[in-house]
Amino acid sequence: MKILLVEDSRATAMVTTARLESFGHEVEHAISGQAALDHFQKTIFDLILMDIEMPGMNGFETTTRIRALEGNEAWAWTPIIFVTATDTPTNVVTAIEAGGDDFISKMAPESVLQAKMKAMSRIAALRTRLAHANRKLQDQANRDGLTGLFNRRAMDMQIDSLWDLALNAKKPFSLLMIDVDNFKKYNDHYGHLAGDDCLRAVANCLAQTVQQANLDKATHGAFVARYGGEEFAVVIPDVPSGTHCGLAISIVEAVAAMRLPHEKNAEFGIVTISLGGVCADPAQGQVGRLFQQADTLLYKAKEAGRNRAEVV
Ligand code: GH3
Ligand code: MG
Ligand code: MG
Ligand code: MG
Repeated sequence: MKILLVEDSRATAMVTTARLESFGHEVEHAISGQAALDHFQKTIFDLILMDIEMPGMNGFETTTRIRALEGNEAWAWTPIIFVTATDTPTNVVTAIEAGGDDFISKMAPESVLQAKMKAMSRIAALRTRLAHANRKLQDQANRDGLTGLFNRRAMDMQIDSLWDLALNAKKPFSLLMIDVDNFKKYNDHYGHLAGDDCLRAVANCLAQTVQQANLDKATHGAFVARYGGEEFAVVIPDVPSGTHCGLAISIVEAVAAMRLPHEKNAEFGIVTISLGGVCADPAQGQVGRLFQQADTLLYKAKEAGRNRAEVV
């Protein structure tokens, strides 16, 4: 385990560190409550061993502050064991109230310390699994199951904060709305499963084209989301006005360049998309308006014959 040892006596800390290291643990020493908070904010620990009596901030106060830093995430709870010379009933109660999990006497024999470490190792393993499962769940909640792109929910959540960032930085903000052409006919002609494959291929193509633009530094931080059905959105924060036009054209061309057969797509004979793109000054409008404008332009691209971008 990775252990944070909070102990104001260097001599005691040296002895305890040596014992813990002999059990195979990795130990960082904090000489005061404040030092403990600093360590805690830089590193993730499996366990904190906390002295109670310390000059300045004592062990109880330090623990209360650590709990406040952790917030409300269940898996973010770092076990804290108080190590003290005086485990009076009052101390035990105060320790638990402050957010501590257990107590160990400074006089405890080596076997007791070792046993407690074993119990804490089990909790540490559980926490790691929980944190992992939590990250996976969060990721799943943000991804579209068919294409693996961000879903509408994830996009909505990011777009507001990106819009605010652009507003504060006085930077423009671009949005491209994309819709697959005559896709109902694709499903009718090739079947719904083939339709799913087609959407996946289009999604990959969009993601690659946008990623390339980011790599080429034409854009930065641009991302694609599945907006719904056969519609996708590309969010382009923080690029000079006009940059979005280049990316819009690349996207339409990249999809056509896949040359996926679509017999029922008018004169094209391949899968194509239409695109409406806008660039806005966040100081001049609202993010909702951006979607309306992009949608209107997308409609214009459809009216004008599809397989094209209408961008302002
Ligand atoms: P337009 O060129 O005007 O966009 O015509 P369209 O046929 O693409 O437009 P419409 O909105 O009428 O049809 C969209 C179709 O997309 C209808 C719907 O069944 C299909 N679709 C939406 N989501 C999925 C999906 O996840 N898988 C498949 N296979 N089809 C989907
Ligand atoms: Mg002390
Ligand atoms: Mg549509
Ligand atoms: Mg369509």
